[in-house]
Amino acid sequence: MTDRTAETVTRLRATAGVLDAVAHDRAMAADVAQIRAAVTDLANQIRALVDAVERRSMPPGSCTIGWGVCPDHGATLVTSRGRSRCTVCGTTWDYDRENQHCREPATFLFHTAPVCRAHAEAAPDHSRITPIEGTA
Ligand SMILES: [Zn+2]
Ligand SMILES: [Zn+2]
Repeated sequence: MTDRTAETVTRLRATAGVLDAVAHDRAMAADVAQIRAAVTDLANQIRALVDAVERRSMPPGSCTIGWGVCPDHGATLVTSRGRSRCTVCGTTWDYDRENQHCREPATFLFHTAPVCRAHAEAAPDHSRITPIEGTA
């Protein structure tokens, strides 16, 4: 993703959040129900568009999970003020890695979805995880 696209994605995500807050504001009277429905629909469409843009920018063979992990420790990230940190190894990323599509190379199948090693390890117990031939 270019910096410009990444910035647009970040801003659209924030906008979708604001639209959701407006749509769920109980103070809004019934006569604005149509506007609320339109706003909710708009927020959903923005999110779908942003997801599609993110997926298109994924390198081929990437993990298919829509949230980030520490490549070594899995679902151990905490994020504040737009920076993510692994609570196990202390590695930091100067962006919100936790809420971004995973870009690690896929080396396992979670059922039929290609996932990286960290996401395979973070999968719930008894999930069907199989190595992808020739990648692990
Ligand atoms: Zn870590
Ligand atoms: Zn992953």
